[in-house]
Amino acid sequence: MRGLIIYKGPSEFDGKPIVAVLVFSAGNGKTKSPALWVLPDIEVKDGKGYYSTAREAARSVCGGCPLFDVTDDKGRHGTACFAWAHALPIGGVLRSIDVGNYVPDFEMRKIKAWAELEQPRRLRNAYIGDPAAVPRHVLEPMLQFMESWTAPLGYTHQWRKKKNQWLQSYCMASVESVHDARVAAANGWGVFRVGLHDEDPLPEETWCPSQARGMSCAACGQCDGRGGRRIFARAHGVKHVVRRIERVIKRRSAQTAGATP
Ligand code: SF4
Repeated sequence: MRGLIIYKGPSEFDGKPIVAVLVFSAGNGKTKSPALWVLPDIEVKDGKGYYSTAREAARSVCGGCPLFDVTDDKGRHGTACFAWAHALPIGGVLRSIDVGNYVPDFEMRKIKAWAELEQPRRLRNAYIGDPAAVPRHVLEPMLQFMESWTAPLGYTHQWRKKKNQWLQSYCMASVESVHDARVAAANGWGVFRVGLHDEDPLPEETWCPSQARGMSCAACGQCDGRGGRRIFARAHGVKHVVRRIERVIKRRSAQTAGATP
């Protein structure tokens, strides 16, 4: 068993089928934690069509995230999302669900037994997809239960929507401009802002310790939505993805220039 299926049903974004799984050993090197993955519930077949099929269906779990699809000056499309830019694990987990490596746990009995046994240090919510895609009546009890063991860490781009304000207790608002960071903070959110590759944090922001000094998220734990923290990190990763992220930052910053929070 590689993990547990906690939800299988319609997306809160568009009503299309999604699946939310707790992957026991899913975190990247920075996170080093078990993680919730929110994925489009599609059949994965080997072959060239998989990536485009999964990408199209992923709108059901990524919502209107500005990093999902970025168009460059020449009209070429690409993603600025680290998860989709390195999409192999997504297909692997979907295949693994298909062959029965993930066990349904809609009553959350197994997840409690797992947490009591493993006592996870952190939970990443959600490593792929936006937690707001999962219905609140499913996700909130799991997050509340997990808090007996560990503060979940998470991010949402859906922080503006009234119905998602409950996520303030568990997630950071994920933003790409100083203006949006100030608006989210003024509305009670902890904020994670990604900046240009050569940008520095604002005085009210803390530089993400993972980027500043190589600390793991498990050791840091600041992105738990609590305490109104303002975290900053420079766009990083492979060059073409950084270029796309910076495109999103510049566009959003231009759109909001001069606006008051
Ligand atoms: S601030 Fe801490 S928890 Fe948040 S991304 Fe950086 S290292 Fe991870």
